[in-house]
Amino acid sequence: MDNKEQNKMDKIISLCKRRGFVFPSSEIYDGFAAVYDFGPYGVELANNIKNLWWKNMTQFRDDIVGLDSAIFMNPKVWEASGHIKGFSDPLTECKKCHTRLRLDTLLEDYGIRADEKMSEEEINKIFKNNKGKVKCPNCGSTEMSEAKNFNLLVKSNLGNFTGDMEKDPVYLRGETCQGIYVNYKNVLDSTRVKIPFGIAQIGKAFRNEITARQFIFRTREFEQMEMQYFVKPDDFKKYYEDWKNIRFNFYLDLGIKAENLKWHRHENLVFYAKEAYDIEYNFSFGFKELEGLHVRGDYDLTQHSKFSGQDLSYLDPSDNKKFIPYIIETSAGVGRTFLAVLTEAFREEKIDDDVRVVLKLNPIIAPIKVAVFPLLKNKPELVAKAKEIFDMLKKEWRCEFDDNGNIGKRYRRQDEIGTPYCITIDFDSLENNDVTIRDRDTMEQKRITVDELINYLKNKLQ
Ligand code: ATP
Repeated sequence: MDNKEQNKMDKIISLCKRRGFVFPSSEIYDGFAAVYDFGPYGVELANNIKNLWWKNMTQFRDDIVGLDSAIFMNPKVWEASGHIKGFSDPLTECKKCHTRLRLDTLLEDYGIRADEKMSEEEINKIFKNNKGKVKCPNCGSTEMSEAKNFNLLVKSNLGNFTGDMEKDPVYLRGETCQGIYVNYKNVLDSTRVKIPFGIAQIGKAFRNEITARQFIFRTREFEQMEMQYFVKPDDFKKYYEDWKNIRFNFYLDLGIKAENLKWHRHENLVFYAKEAYDIEYNFSFGFKELEGLHVRGDYDLTQHSKFSGQDLSYLDPSDNKKFIPYIIETSAGVGRTFLAVLTEAFREEKIDDDVRVVLKLNPIIAPIKVAVFPLLKNKPELVAKAKEIFDMLKKEWRCEFDDNGNIGKRYRRQDEIGTPYCITIDFDSLENNDVTIRDRDTMEQKRITVDELINYLKNKLQ
């Protein structure tokens, strides 16, 4: 990351803390590595992202249903899925400072192509061939141990009263989609869905990530928005293309510029995958994965059929033939989308001798849609009128009332959290039943009557 980009990232992290978007977990105890909390504005932004995704996946379609499966599952699920054996990243350790590092991402930081799916031998060979080039980011040493595959599943002792943590561990789910696969038959039996159809779910996932850097990009507890689409095996290509377009457009609609998004095709496919692409975003630390779109074939349902003994095939009502559907997976991270929209929206604008920090977020996801200010806080008639307008608007949108400090400072506070509109109530408002409305992006102000306000904002905010 060059200095300018590092600077921007530092500014975003600082804004997140200062303005209540993201806090390090348990900070009063010095935090907890790779875990973060969403603050008052962060939870609004994250909820808006999730709601938009959910609406696009369920409400706006008639072929996708929702699900909310539990975080804990029968451990056999993870055996069947292959996670207990194969869900690992290559772990190396700096011989000097003993920092543990994920070798594939470390090599990639030096422009050396590597992949978490490579075998231990393959990745260690690449590592050896590049000896001396790759440095420990902590101390700069080039002496590192051979990489070993480290399993990422997080274990718990749920339901285990023996005191032995290693005995029959129950896992915190490493991805949310397994909850979808094991409920596929329940959904088929309880709803009217017919292939092709999808199941959408938003929920937490947990991974023992080795390298915890880059703020909320890579955390050990995170949230995924996953939709698994079940299709006839012969049809997968067509639906895969459709989903690639739909998902790319989702990010454009969020306000991300096309030039900051790109496709990354997986060259090393896991053996069962038919096709795999990621959508990458141009984060401050380079283009990195935002969402994965993978054709998983019939692997998951076949494995769960085998391990559970249940028939998970689909009976096609058109010709009475049975088959195991292919699955097209779309899997996005809430935290990564959050960081992408903040990176895209963050601006420092020079105004006269001052710098205005503004988040030019798409109004659909802005945490606060409208802020309402009485011009002066010590004039009860202005405060009462402003409260009346605030009470009217808060029924429609998440609004904020602020009577503190001069108007200029109040505008700047709202700019920093991305509020698209600010409304000021002054003495003329009492006479004319109108307000001043100020646009975040253009900073233009105009007067508009209170009667027109809701319609005006509806047009602008939708
Ligand atoms: P990476 O290669 O960056 O580790 P991955 O390929 O393992 O990611 P997937 O298993 O495809 O990720 O997960 C789907 C999505 O879940 C990712 O595109 C990302 O948005 C999100 N995600 C995965 N791991 C994390 C994490 N540790 N922290 C935050 N989000 C994550």
